Amino acid sequence: MEDCLFCKIIKGEIPSKKVFENDYVYAFLDIEPQAPFHAVFVPKAHISSANDINDDNAFYIGEIFKAIKQVAKENGLTDGYRIVNNCGESAGQTVFHIHFHLMGKRKFGWPAG
Ligand code: AMP
Ligand code: ZN
Repeated sequence: MEDCLFCKIIKGEIPSKKVFENDYVYAFLDIEPQAPFHAVFVPKAHISSANDINDDNAFYIGEIFKAIKQVAKENGLTDGYRIVNNCGESAGQTVFHIHFHLMGKRKFGWPAG
């Protein structure tokens, strides 16, 4: 997708602070961190939102969660962590390339905060 911010980050056209990369997943530090550790995990295929997951692309989601587990361990998120996916504008999705936020190193409220 030509105009997609996260596709451009994956291609290296926009700089990012990489924390993980394999054939399926790219992850980088969030530019506006909401926790002392805050990374964003994206599939290396343009899937717009959780509404667009299907039988052909669902394996990317499992790959993302395996990457999250590894990055959490590597960065010492031993007390637990929060994984967030915003789906749709009213849920707070601002970039329409599906992504999962990994946040840690602070306490989290529930359901928000
Ligand atoms: P969401 O609001 O769930 O769509 O999340 C989009 C996230 O992307 C936000 O947390 C932004 O801070 C983050 N973000 C936007 N642009 C960049 C960028 N160039 N580098 C890193 N993170 C970004
Ligand atoms: Zn994209």
